[in-house]
Amino acid sequence: MVKFETDAGLKSFLLFGGTFDPVHNGHLAMATEALVELAASQLTILPAGNPYQRGRLPLASAMHRVEMLKMAFTGMANVSIDTRELERDGPTFTVDTLRELRQTHGDDAGLTWLIGGDAFARLDSWHQWPSLFTLANFAVVPRQGEPHPLITASAALTAHLADRQTEALALSQCAYGRYTLLAAIVPPVSSSYIRKQLKNHQSTRGLAPDGVCDYIEQHKLYDPQENN
Ligand code: ATP
Repeated sequence: MVKFETDAGLKSFLLFGGTFDPVHNGHLAMATEALVELAASQLTILPAGNPYQRGRLPLASAMHRVEMLKMAFTGMANVSIDTRELERDGPTFTVDTLRELRQTHGDDAGLTWLIGGDAFARLDSWHQWPSLFTLANFAVVPRQGEPHPLITASAALTAHLADRQTEALALSQCAYGRYTLLAAIVPPVSSSYIRKQLKNHQSTRGLAPDGVCDYIEQHKLYDPQENN
């Protein structure tokens, strides 16, 4: 039997981790929609330093990825960027980040990790994954073109998810251990598609905010000839 915290006066934090290599309109729509659906007042973005599961470092430097994030979210005063994962040595484990945040904010704070359906379906490949549910909730955004996460999840993950699903608005009342599937429909953009377009010298306009596209051009990011 899973025990959930339900203190109505809970302080809650909406967290959005990712590589953001580069940030794109899908990320922007996810953040905007999640703030509304979860009735959250603020969102913290946590760019990953060394996303170990990819088997390679991000192509753009941490500095460039943060600059692009700042540019993309500049109009949203309720969004902030937390660079702790960039400052940590070694592979970026979300469980470490959540432990730090839990220690800072205390046992009663609500921590909710915003995640795409594709990543949520593979959550059991994350370092110490069962511990994630003892630290945070998950708000899952379906990824267009990908199967429903609950269909492709492994038997172990499916068993772990049993009895944990809740309504979006109820999530802020839970400190950890729950998940919700958001109704958001966000553009089917991916960072890898943008990188591919750039590699093939194709336009990326409309896939990321104009400021980000300009920044990529100006700094020749994702250009196989350049080293950035
Ligand atoms: P890549 O194509 O390099 O794998 P990405 O587009 O998935 O990158 P990330 O920075 O890895 O971008 O994504 C951060 C989080 O946002 C992940 O949980 C991912 O599943 C989710 N996400 C990214 N784009 C979308 C999208 N278009 N729809 C739903 N979820 C998304």
